Amino acid sequence: MRADVLVIGAGPAGSALARQLAAAGVHVLVADRKSFPRDKPCGEFLSPQCQPLLEELELKDLMTELGAHRVDGMRLYDGERPALGRFRAVCEAVAPHGFGVRRAVFDHALLQAAERAGATFLARHTCDDVLRDGHGRVVGARLRDADGRSIEVAARFVVGADGVHSRVARALGLQRQDTWLRQFALVAHYRGVQPEATAEVHLLRCGFFAATTVDEGLFGVNLVLPQDRLRERSGVDWDGFVARHLDAAPRFAERLAEAGRITPWRGVGPFAFSTRRQTVPGAALVGDAAGYVDPLTGEGIYFALFSARALGRALLLALAEPARETAAMAGYCRERRREIAPRLRVARILQRGLRSPWVVHRVLAALRRWPSLADLAVTLSGDSAHPRELWRPSFWRQFAGTGS
Ligand SMILES: Cc1cc2nc3c(=O)[nH]c(=O)nc-3n(C[C@H](O)[C@H](O)[C@H](O)COP(=O)(O)OP(=O)(O)OC[C@H]3O[C@@H](n4cnc5c(N)ncnc54)[C@H](O)[C@@H]3O)c2cc1C
Repeated sequence: MRADVLVIGAGPAGSALARQLAAAGVHVLVADRKSFPRDKPCGEFLSPQCQPLLEELELKDLMTELGAHRVDGMRLYDGERPALGRFRAVCEAVAPHGFGVRRAVFDHALLQAAERAGATFLARHTCDDVLRDGHGRVVGARLRDADGRSIEVAARFVVGADGVHSRVARALGLQRQDTWLRQFALVAHYRGVQPEATAEVHLLRCGFFAATTVDEGLFGVNLVLPQDRLRERSGVDWDGFVARHLDAAPRFAERLAEAGRITPWRGVGPFAFSTRRQTVPGAALVGDAAGYVDPLTGEGIYFALFSARALGRALLLALAEPARETAAMAGYCRERRREIAPRLRVARILQRGLRSPWVVHRVLAALRRWPSLADLAVTLSGDSAHPRELWRPSFWRQFAGTGS
């Protein structure tokens, strides 16, 4: 098999990239080890800035078509009373709300959009390794199909969009394991929870519950905890394990009391993962495969769509003018770093802060007292605005002008 671009992984990063490239006439193959629709453990909150990126992919009405639930902000609890933060319209192009939609539904729709644009999907094809030429340039990948047959695919570019702990990143020798944050999550869907216009986070002594209403009125629940807490599970099933933590989040326990869990608990972790570089000659990493911190701020899908767009532009340039490949790929890394690195730093600071109940308590007390501060925190964490906007007077004028 042969392609201009072989994309490994059909999550939001891989499918968005495939759609952009295929729409521009590039011959794209997308391989995923799973068949679709497939589930992906996630908070399933699409932050406000995802919508403009979907519009660029000519998927303006996708959220409406999928019946996604509109999310206007976030309620943060460290006990009974929430701090309520709402997204504010600080940027004309970004509406002040996000969406809740199941990943099985969203990812499948995005993949179908890539196929409609002309990309070819290889379901249940797992990437085992990359292929290199005599100069070390990546020239393809070795896949394994559902029957265990090995297939070599030649490609001018191979893209690793295969998520956290990317096999492609490892094959390229770019993976760096983060050991400072070893968290895991349990994820399930419930039916029968009263829908709310805001997502909710219930902070525990260590870890948190995060939840939002999604399409079909379902309710997605995540419990995120340090990995060593898994030891406490001995002797109880997952429901029993979750119930112990619900004791520390009484408002959340109330919300779930009448509801029924309709999917099994799925575990995932650890998440923190980074890479030394995101490109080598003939290959690049995108989305979580290029680096990810944690699910607290709910920005991973935005990072995936943003980095896919940036990489798509670079690849189009490199395919059209091979002599400019190095500059194009360096441009991708710069653009990605500029947009994502400050947000990852904020996410790391938040994660460290969360380890101190004293800090959590003080911060939430302040957010409850000053609703504008809560709006600011939610607007920044939900990526409506980049942290660097804080230095611009125009941002503050806009922010003040949108208060209730
Ligand atoms: C508990 C949790 C909650 C989260 N909550 C949110 C949230 O609310 N909002 C948000 O924006 N982000 C959230 N995130 C982050 C978000 O899920 C990711 O950032 C996002 O899925 C990244 O998309 P991706 O396309 O890079 O990777 P993925 O969505 O992980 O897709 C990777 C794909 O690659 C495939 N694959 C893997 N290995 C191979 C291989 N060797 N060969 C072929 N295929 C392969 C997989 O099957 C998968 O389909 C959360 C993450 C976690 C863990």
